Amino acid sequence: MTLELSNDKCSVAPYLSVPNEGAPALIGTLCGVCDEVLLGVRVACGNCGNRKNLKAVKLSEKGKLYAFSVVYRSFPGVKTPFVSAIVDLEGGGTLKGTLRNVEQDPHSLAQGMPVDVVFEEIDQKDNKGRPCTGYFFEPADQDQRG
Ligand SMILES: [Zn+2]
Repeated sequence: MTLELSNDKCSVAPYLSVPNEGAPALIGTLCGVCDEVLLGVRVACGNCGNRKNLKAVKLSEKGKLYAFSVVYRSFPGVKTPFVSAIVDLEGGGTLKGTLRNVEQDPHSLAQGMPVDVVFEEIDQKDNKGRPCTGYFFEPADQDQRG
């Protein structure tokens, strides 16, 4: 699998593939030596150092909350509070992002909570004026949505 990038849209992250047609996807690297799955296209395995037997793979859009923090202060223009999260994806790969549609209360969130990755065109354009596609985490369980 190759990292597809659109000519019409921009991507907010080097590991987010945004093709001209079809759905966006998170791209990772599978190490053929130790089976580690890493976020993004890599030239070497971060686990064992292997440089030859690496394969680009599509990462899962389901994962579990590994860590989170409710952010109350940010740059001007960034609405607070929001939940900054680190998510372990099913089958491998770990990434950071914003967990939305939850109560912004640390007591209503828990490590291990199942989340989905959702893709969305965001209110941001690149220097060529193309709209950017980003990703967010949302609770997989509707009952946990806030
Ligand atoms: Zn490896």
